[in-house]
Amino acid sequence: MITFEEAYRIVTESSFRLGKEVVGLKEAAGRSLMVAVRSDMDMPPWNKSAVDGYACRHEDLGHELTVLETVAAGAMPAMEVVPGTCSRIMTGAAVPAGADYVFMLENSEELAGGRVRFTGRPGNDNIARAGEDIMKDQTVLRAGHIIKPQDIAVLATVGTTQVTVSCRPRVGVISTGNELVEPDQTPAGAQIRNSNSSQLMAQIARAGAIGKYYGIARDDEESITSLMKKALEENDVLLISGGVSFGDFDLVPRVMTSLGLRIHFDQVAMQPGKPLTFCTGEKKAVFGLPGNPVSTFLQFEVMVRTFLDRMTGVTEHAPVLQMPLATDYSRKRAERLSWIPCTITPAGEAKPVEYHGSAHISALTGAWGVITIPRGQSWIQKGEMVSVRQI
Ligand code: AMP
Ligand code: MG
Repeated sequence: MITFEEAYRIVTESSFRLGKEVVGLKEAAGRSLMVAVRSDMDMPPWNKSAVDGYACRHEDLGHELTVLETVAAGAMPAMEVVPGTCSRIMTGAAVPAGADYVFMLENSEELAGGRVRFTGRPGNDNIARAGEDIMKDQTVLRAGHIIKPQDIAVLATVGTTQVTVSCRPRVGVISTGNELVEPDQTPAGAQIRNSNSSQLMAQIARAGAIGKYYGIARDDEESITSLMKKALEENDVLLISGGVSFGDFDLVPRVMTSLGLRIHFDQVAMQPGKPLTFCTGEKKAVFGLPGNPVSTFLQFEVMVRTFLDRMTGVTEHAPVLQMPLATDYSRKRAERLSWIPCTITPAGEAKPVEYHGSAHISALTGAWGVITIPRGQSWIQKGEMVSVRQI
């Protein structure tokens, strides 16, 4: 049995990179950017009014001012503001030359003869300076960044409509177990529904990869072999759940070896997920995930996700937060690192939720994240800081 840290190191070091492709803005969200993006212009491009109001000279705020013109967004000012004058201006319009202050409509009083008066108290000038948000040639998105919807706005702003991103990993999914029927079936006798495959497909999609489901393999070598062979041919990564423990019908490791794959580890000091089995072939990786749904879920988040991120050159990882524990925690045995599902209290503490172990899938539904209990630690006092990651 190896430590979690050792297993994690092996997984990250075994990863291989995928190629690149160019996609349009509509396909860019969720993808890993491979080539940094620079701005082709200043933003704002000119000194811009942040409010609807009147542009004037700061030193004229105490005087009645003659209104020269109205500057709407999308039109350039025609007149220069000189002493004793101002221009009516709308949000997003360019501030006229000569003006260094915009007072809001709400702080103005219109007077007879096309004149206006400032009625507020001087404060913020309400002008966004040219280039204060983005400078021309500035790098706005770095390589290794996962493009989010808000980044799409930045790309659109700087006129980048085609981005170079990593190709998406293709990930095959197989479940094993004679007890399994598909979710649309009613289990009979000793059967249960296959929840891992649907869960994994959703996790794969969330990770920005392309999942393909291959069905349920029976607990016999032939059945596992034929599905694994096909899935390995068609994918970069294969996730096979169940059949990796040491029971009489846990045949997955044997099939991995017979297919010429190299098993790097098959037991890790972590909970849940001790029988996680990881093997690789030429530009292929297979994760044998323990069948219990919580194990499958967490091992995807911790190990598979890391592997996929490496494949696509992602350099940003989900943050691990330090939070005070809401209650005392103790466990009898501490030889494994363990993850326990938790919520966050309104006071910002991590509070374990009711959790019966790795088969208790519904515990995760009510959880915000998981607390990491380090190996060797058997109790933690309320208020002590613990590491928490969102799930
Ligand atoms: P195994 O790792 O095959 O020994 O399975 C461990 C436990 O997880 C058993 O109780 C299985 O019935 C359950 N299990 C295995 N695969 C799945 C699956 N795809 N969906 C739901 N439960 C599963
Ligand atoms: Mg099984």
